[in-house]
Amino acid sequence: MATLTYESTFSGRESSELAPRDKRAKRAQEERMVVVPVADDSDTATGEYAVCTASGTYTVNIATSDRCGCADVETNGADKCVHERRAALAITNDDVPAPGDTVGAHPAESQRNALRAEISAVESKLEQAGQRSITRLTRLHSRKDKLSKVIDRVRTLTV
Ligand SMILES: [Zn+2]
Repeated sequence: MATLTYESTFSGRESSELAPRDKRAKRAQEERMVVVPVADDSDTATGEYAVCTASGTYTVNIATSDRCGCADVETNGADKCVHERRAALAITNDDVPAPGDTVGAHPAESQRNALRAEISAVESKLEQAGQRSITRLTRLHSRKDKLSKVIDRVRTLTV
């Protein structure tokens, strides 16, 4: 169970063409986040979840009426922010234990490993892109050199 993103119901659609609530739904499905359940002393999910994102870690509580402390809720008064949506998605998809269920082995570890694997893949893509850029730069420089030589020859002829 290493779910870093969910299948998007908005794939191919730009955020700019979506209503605010659909934008939140799209982000909740597509962004890389890790949902970590908080357990009590008897290893039971309390209903509180830490939602780790690139911009910070947010606390979502499904069991109470406490809202997420993110700016979207506090400033925009979102009826459901991306973090609340993501926690709900993770519970619905059985990727994290529901409130009252046993937490057991740390469910964040497989997601952390999946993130590490994705970082390695991105790093190798970056390296390839760098190599391609160097090759392209070399080609452009050589083209410029050849053009300069031609210009020099033309100059010699006209002088
Ligand atoms: Zn939030």
